[in-house]
Amino acid sequence: MTDSTTPTNFIRQIVLADQASGKHGGEVRTRFPPEPNGYLHLGHAKSICLNFGIARDFAGTCNLRFDDTNPTREDPEFVEAIRNDVIWLGFTWHEQRHASDYFEVLYRAALKLIADGKAFVCDLSAEQVREYRGTLTEAGRNSPYRERSVEENLDLFQRMRNGEFADGSRTLRAKIDMSAGNINLRDPALYRIRKATHQNTGDAWPIYPMYDYAHALSDAIEGITHSLCTLEFEDHRPLYDWCVENVDLPANPQLGESLVAAGLHYAPGRPRQIEFARGNLDFTVMSKRKLMALVTDGLVDGWDDPRMPTLSGVRRRGFPAAAVRTFWERAGISKQNSVIEYGVLENCVRDELDASAPRRMAVIDPLRLVLTNLAADHSAVLDFPNHPKNEDFGRRQVRFSPELWIEREDFMETPVKGFHRLVPGGEVRLRGAGIIRCDDVIKDTSGQVIELRCTLDEQSTPGSAGADRKVKGTIHWVDARSALAAEVRLFDRLFKVADPDDDSDGKSYHDHLNADSRRIVKGWLEAGLAGAAAESSWQFERLGYFVADRVDHQPKRPVFNRVVTLRDTWNKAGAKP
Ligand code: ATP
Ligand code: MG
Repeated sequence: MTDSTTPTNFIRQIVLADQASGKHGGEVRTRFPPEPNGYLHLGHAKSICLNFGIARDFAGTCNLRFDDTNPTREDPEFVEAIRNDVIWLGFTWHEQRHASDYFEVLYRAALKLIADGKAFVCDLSAEQVREYRGTLTEAGRNSPYRERSVEENLDLFQRMRNGEFADGSRTLRAKIDMSAGNINLRDPALYRIRKATHQNTGDAWPIYPMYDYAHALSDAIEGITHSLCTLEFEDHRPLYDWCVENVDLPANPQLGESLVAAGLHYAPGRPRQIEFARGNLDFTVMSKRKLMALVTDGLVDGWDDPRMPTLSGVRRRGFPAAAVRTFWERAGISKQNSVIEYGVLENCVRDELDASAPRRMAVIDPLRLVLTNLAADHSAVLDFPNHPKNEDFGRRQVRFSPELWIEREDFMETPVKGFHRLVPGGEVRLRGAGIIRCDDVIKDTSGQVIELRCTLDEQSTPGSAGADRKVKGTIHWVDARSALAAEVRLFDRLFKVADPDDDSDGKSYHDHLNADSRRIVKGWLEAGLAGAAAESSWQFERLGYFVADRVDHQPKRPVFNRVVTLRDTWNKAGAKP
């Protein structure tokens, strides 16, 4: 047992025990099986980290499989986006597969089930099927078509496959038990007729396998050993097992001939399904359907809007992939449903960026400040460390002249108690430059402060005798003559309430959108940021962590997103102070 295989959760315990006992030949094969009907979100990252993490730590493999059995909802755009997101998160799949790669195998397996008397073609309408199904307390009734002969079933199913029947007119159903306590076992549908163009197979198939059937057999086809899924599939496990056992791919090699002919690696197995609790975060919604609605209703600027909980959204927002991984690692895996505070994720982002982001100075709400005791053409370069805790980041030279920008909120004409920054007649330290005193406050005709006239104590500059003199406050600044103008996008949470999904008060998540979730301002940055690459992350001192926008940032037109503030500004109850 190595550090990485030490069982830290019940799934790892199972995998470890199976490996020790030689079950599945001691091998570990997992898969991440998204449906390509939208972009991945933070919840999916939990499953990705779990599946790829176990494969990595137990010297196994993990496939990326697109569970594409709903042709009308799926799209190659989503396939591409999902691939990119998994790579961004830092994982590499063993093989990429589509459930649709297996349509021929699944079809042949269905013919075998029919031949074995374990499946039948049913002509009941969807509504009738519901009526016959029974309830939690009442057994269902057998379909009048249940006793069709094998010959008739084979003929009808082949004609379904040939496209002879209308959508919805027939289904292929497993013959299990209409009185089973578990409703999923009451002769569930295995195939439906759907004449729709499929994102991978085009118009080749007028029938499509149902999720439970396709999923169980896809796992078996790929030789998946541990099929990890979320708790809502617990009740489906008996059906999963029924499909695996009754088709029995390992004992029926002829069923997989089409894969062998296509040159695909084929070594089917008997997978075991294990369920774990979904990951949930407060202040957000995490269902592709709802995220899709935000996009199509124009409430956000697309799937990768930096306020979206999609992986492409948090990436554009500037969350490091390592922070997302650490977050789910710390959250752990269990069978207990819970909701994690969004602030916990933001703290992982802060931890990661504190270590990895170089420091710079920037002003996002500028107020002009002039140092009147310096010559008008005074110009100096000051030396700054790029990271206060890590010398490996090196140092940089920052231009300093008598015209500066400071943050408007660092000055108060009538200070409140405890305000230690700049006030009329008061002193403050300009970060790395020396101590200044505010002599004059210039206002425009409306009374708005537009300029501060100050003097620099030249004895307090770095290297001078009085450099250590203490004043209470230190503020940051940007040299106005060399500053780089930038668009700065300040993001906040997309929802105002902790549980936007709660509709008990008749409201929907649409009603809880935070109207102030994005503010765009013009800021001034240290000139050196002109060379910042798209997607590079920085700490703007005292303001937070920022990232050069991966889409809109250009050297001549810099655009920075605020990733997260330096401290959490939301309290537990969710109210903004
Ligand atoms: P959604 O309802 O958001 O569309 P889904 O479960 O339908 O989610 P899939 O594409 O089917 O989305 O999911 C792929 C895999 O990711 C599945 O194994 C699913 O269980 C897992 N998954 C989805 N959401 C979460 C979550 N919040 N936490 C953990 N795993 C998740
Ligand atoms: Mg799904």
